[in-house]
Amino acid sequence: MPSSPTNLSGASWLTRRAFCAGGVALAATALLPRRVFATTAADSVPPFALGVASGDPAPDGFVIWTRLAPRPLEPGGGMSSTPVGVEWVVAEDEALRHVVRRGTATASPEWAHSVHVEIDGLRPDRWYWYRFTTGGAASAVGRARTLPAAGATAQRLRFAFASCQKYEVGYYTAYEHMAREDLDLVVFLGDYIYEKDDDDEAVRPHGFREVFTLDDYRVRYALYKSDPALQAAHALAPWIVTWDDHEVSNDYAGAVHQFPERHTREEFLARRAAAYRAYYEHMPLRRSARPAGPDLPLYRRLAYGTLATFHVLDTRQYRTDQPAGPRRQSAGPQVLDPAATMLGAEQRRWFFDSLAGSRARWNIIAQQVIMAQVDVSTAGPGPIVDVDKWAGYEHERREILRFLRDRRIANPVVITGDIHSNWANELSTDFDDPAAPPVAVEFVGTSISSGGHGVDRPDHLDALLARNPCVKFHNNERGYVRCEVTPEEWRTDFRTVSDITRCDGRLLTRASFRVAAGQPRLQRI
Ligand code: FE
Ligand code: CA
Repeated sequence: MPSSPTNLSGASWLTRRAFCAGGVALAATALLPRRVFATTAADSVPPFALGVASGDPAPDGFVIWTRLAPRPLEPGGGMSSTPVGVEWVVAEDEALRHVVRRGTATASPEWAHSVHVEIDGLRPDRWYWYRFTTGGAASAVGRARTLPAAGATAQRLRFAFASCQKYEVGYYTAYEHMAREDLDLVVFLGDYIYEKDDDDEAVRPHGFREVFTLDDYRVRYALYKSDPALQAAHALAPWIVTWDDHEVSNDYAGAVHQFPERHTREEFLARRAAAYRAYYEHMPLRRSARPAGPDLPLYRRLAYGTLATFHVLDTRQYRTDQPAGPRRQSAGPQVLDPAATMLGAEQRRWFFDSLAGSRARWNIIAQQVIMAQVDVSTAGPGPIVDVDKWAGYEHERREILRFLRDRRIANPVVITGDIHSNWANELSTDFDDPAAPPVAVEFVGTSISSGGHGVDRPDHLDALLARNPCVKFHNNERGYVRCEVTPEEWRTDFRTVSDITRCDGRLLTRASFRVAAGQPRLQRI
């Protein structure tokens, strides 16, 4: 049965008023089915206050996720310290009449009563619906989709990508609109939470301190996941998630804190272990991504038939420390250190093998930080680069771009988050030579909310574009990016919202680009 997102957004728990109920009052809790929940200490409180999610689709299934947390902002989520059985169903219809898979999972206190079920045995390239129940309470119904069969010639992929959703600085209006889109999947590129205390610009302050411990991180995820618009976007379609720095700590690199004097290596790895564990507990990830201590294997590949392959990277866990000095500095020899790496040797080998072995028409490189060389100075001799980005790891960046060129990798498209602004860039192997032919394009998506209400400064924009010929578009509003991919053409729409400091922001398409297969150039539509 074909489905439209209207079905989903028309559900009673997804009203406009529901989205607008902000603050830490946990509006979502009140919207979910109110039934007696008697199997834990949390009597009468709905346990599914954090919603549901699906992720990492395959041709025969996907992961479905939930977490029992009747009082999400308490450590432990308001659950007792005993395991709880959770029933789940997967059906071919939204009303759950045609159930094709069902089972019981155990939500254990060791994993914050989260539930990750890997569904298999489904048919490729179709929608399914799923729901969890326990103790007489039912979760919201989520929707998920299997990928086309391996080797199938899929004709169209529609997806959105997003990043950077600092809770307190704005409403998730972008997700409210995303939840009404017709999408096969959503890619999240990092900064799902922010670890610090309230931002000075808070429009919905949370009142919590910086997070360090496992309990802290769990409460922070619960706060973010209590947002009804975020829950709606998760219920819409499967997500493919990766992380950036703020899931642990700003600008960290591998085992090194931004300010190494504040944490020993051991202390930082203990913090990272807590952060990674809480990340897994709250994301629709497969068992293969289950963390062990401070390690969580996150880089992976997903093939959308022969149309597109997602190469999902992790540029934080295996990074060497950023070059010494200020974060924004002149692009001197320090960025050329051949030992500096964002990917680490093992992931880089995997990535190159993944690209070389791909038979996909489009190779989507889903990663965190801007790959284009951007001179961020608006005056003075320049160039000034931001060394937390690929510009600080120039040797490895050139290696990747030359690999794309020399191995003739088909239609590489880099998708990026992190910097709270929209960019459309052409990537060549020599950014200093404006005549060097591009080997890939890059779309950098703005934040959902981080940075607060975004305002463009025309003078700044003009200087930026003048200094950086590889940049074809830049904008500072909030929103997400929508992509439609066919064998012949890629289309990107930069979807922005008019305001996130109030909850009725409108949706705009600020700019659209086309990329023809075989020609890594941006054409503005
Ligand atoms: Fe961010
Ligand atoms: Ca970041």
